[in-house]
Amino acid sequence: MPEKAATLHAHLDDFIKDTLSRCTRCGKCFEACPMTRYGDGLSKADPKTVVSGVLDWLQQTPGNEESVQWLKVCTQSSRCIEACPEGINAMKMVRVGQMSAMGSLGLQGAPALSGREAKDFFRVINAFSETQMTPDEMARWQR
Ligand code: SF4
Repeated sequence: MPEKAATLHAHLDDFIKDTLSRCTRCGKCFEACPMTRYGDGLSKADPKTVVSGVLDWLQQTPGNEESVQWLKVCTQSSRCIEACPEGINAMKMVRVGQMSAMGSLGLQGAPALSGREAKDFFRVINAFSETQMTPDEMARWQR
């Protein structure tokens, strides 16, 4: 394995181990996420269940459907990072979960996420813009 790839793998392994050992599955990162209303069924999902699914992905085990929905709608708002009482970079946790669900970390079987999955792409961009812009700016953006 090339040296850079080995370094990246070691970094990811360390991050995954640290996250799994410190995450209490409290769900506060999910609760703070501004995107949950855009994922199928996420507005009624149990935050602890969703986070548990993401942690499954980190362990190379397919997570629940709710976790896949959360992985799909993440726009890296970073609100989850501020919300975590354990100081875990929850945005990175979701990012690594995405990598796992796309099969990029070696998960066997069909990927649950596709890099080309563009069904909600523009909806997600608009939703993210909504969290960053004033109403006037949003109106100009959507024109
Ligand atoms: S807020 Fe932090 S400790 Fe709580 S579930 Fe999210 S990552 Fe885990």
